[in-house]
Amino acid sequence: MYKVNEIFETIQGEGSFTGVPAIFIRLQGCPVGCSWCDTKHTWAVNPDLQVKLDSVMAKSAETEQWAAITAEQLLALFQEKGYQARHVVITGGEPCMYDLNPLCNTLHAAGYQTQIETSGTFAVQVPAKSWVTVSPKVNMKGGYKVLQSALDRADEIKHPVAMDKHIEQLLQLLQQTDISNKLIYLQPISQQAKATALAISYCKKYNWRLSVQVHKYIGIA
Ligand code: SF4
Repeated sequence: MYKVNEIFETIQGEGSFTGVPAIFIRLQGCPVGCSWCDTKHTWAVNPDLQVKLDSVMAKSAETEQWAAITAEQLLALFQEKGYQARHVVITGGEPCMYDLNPLCNTLHAAGYQTQIETSGTFAVQVPAKSWVTVSPKVNMKGGYKVLQSALDRADEIKHPVAMDKHIEQLLQLLQQTDISNKLIYLQPISQQAKATALAISYCKKYNWRLSVQVHKYIGIA
């Protein structure tokens, strides 16, 4: 069973799939503790806040409520809702707290493509054909370390930046990582103009890419 905070169809606004219609599955639970996290309602898994899937689908605001659901039930839900997107983004929370193999295998068998968005602090348990986006979270309150195995598995590394020290952290993380087959993105934290200017200057310096959270600029989920 997967603990799900929300499921919705939208446009992917970050990284290499920017602009692609996508079904987002937001899983409940994250102990990483980023101070600027914009999904703090996914952190706690409170048994008292378990609800039925219908209630999760009826949410009109962010809440800590979650529902337990199987991969097969998720697939049935996509069909019931008439979602047309073929790209499924599994995010959180920290989705890699779960073994995502059963979910991704079920989705692949039904013709969907899967993308995982993870902080890199938990082992990435996904099939080989899943696209893995690691957004490394370094020195956060929860005390978790970014795993070398997660960086090695990443198809893209999307690093949140607001200060020079974030670039130094990324360069340190990449020291032991073969990036020849990976895309590297810098993503300004919280759309700050200063962070965006900083990210652009380092993208030019290292020939990395810029990811700007398009969905926040156009005001969609
Ligand atoms: S890893 Fe993601 S969900 Fe968890 S605290 Fe950090 S930004 Fe929030």
